[in-house]
Amino acid sequence: LDYEEGKGWHNARIVPYQPISLDPAAKVFHYGQTIFEGLKAYRTENGKISLFRPDMNMKRLNRSNDRMSIPPVDEALGLEALRQLVLIDQDWIPDAPETSLYVRPFVIATEPALGVSPSQQYKFMIILSPVGTYYAEGIKPVSIYVESEYARSVVGGVGHVKTAGNYAAGLKAQEGASALGYSQVLWLDGVHRKYVEEVGSMNVFFRIGDKVITPALTGGLLPGITRDSVIHLLKHWGVEVEERLISIDELVQAQKDGSLKEMFGTGTAAVISPVGSLHWKGEKLMIGDGSTGELSARVYDTITGIQNGRIEDPFSWRVVVE
Ligand code: PMP
Repeated sequence: LDYEEGKGWHNARIVPYQPISLDPAAKVFHYGQTIFEGLKAYRTENGKISLFRPDMNMKRLNRSNDRMSIPPVDEALGLEALRQLVLIDQDWIPDAPETSLYVRPFVIATEPALGVSPSQQYKFMIILSPVGTYYAEGIKPVSIYVESEYARSVVGGVGHVKTAGNYAAGLKAQEGASALGYSQVLWLDGVHRKYVEEVGSMNVFFRIGDKVITPALTGGLLPGITRDSVIHLLKHWGVEVEERLISIDELVQAQKDGSLKEMFGTGTAAVISPVGSLHWKGEKLMIGDGSTGELSARVYDTITGIQNGRIEDPFSWRVVVE
């Protein structure tokens, strides 16, 4: 789909995957005016293909567009494009549980102009790629490095939207953590350097005592669709969920007094990723006994079960693509 000032979005088309040609002065290269989304298409037990809450992705895409001064995309058209593309590529989804087709909608600013101002031309594209089972050997806890040097976002910035620069800015910290053997970085807020926000591409949840706490949407973290689903599910089960500021000191204290029972990340890629330990200021903090917590496992089974049609979908999250 193309955009031109005065003409709006036009020329919707589906073409075989291929390289595209852009002017070297295209604004996306210089000023990072670009946003993206990520979702998955699953094969359900009856062989049909399903998407998980795709309307939420289209809404978030337009919130990202708005923050980056990109004109909004028609959400119904975007959803129809998802439907058609997933049907065309459905043979790429093997009939095996938890394999899926990753779908990446994105917008780039294509106007060739060197001044810093919103582009007058854009392209909205959707590419798809099959992905294997995330947990080939069963769901397994990860260890996470709490970042104290770099920050990912600040109040008033772009941490709450999916724009490329957020991820580029995180690479340095991610590299450092990987070199030390940690799989992800846990970001603290960029102002007080104190409140826990999210990990690289996941939101985070903590089970402390009999409550579940997740960082509030302060503007510094992405409102994850899996996060929203997990909050709904936990409340549906009668679990007390608090969305609020939670400091790293509170977490360390809860770990020391034994009330921090579980921690897990939530995101489209892994759905649920249990966290076995946190590294903070030279200290390794075990979460519970370091294995996958009971609630983490139950949430994982339920959400993946809804996605692949194994269990009932009381919230109408599963959208069957026909
Ligand atoms: N935070 C960030 C920075 C992310 O990139 C993602 C992945 N989109 C998430 C959280 C989780 O969001 P979702 O559950 O919508 O995949």
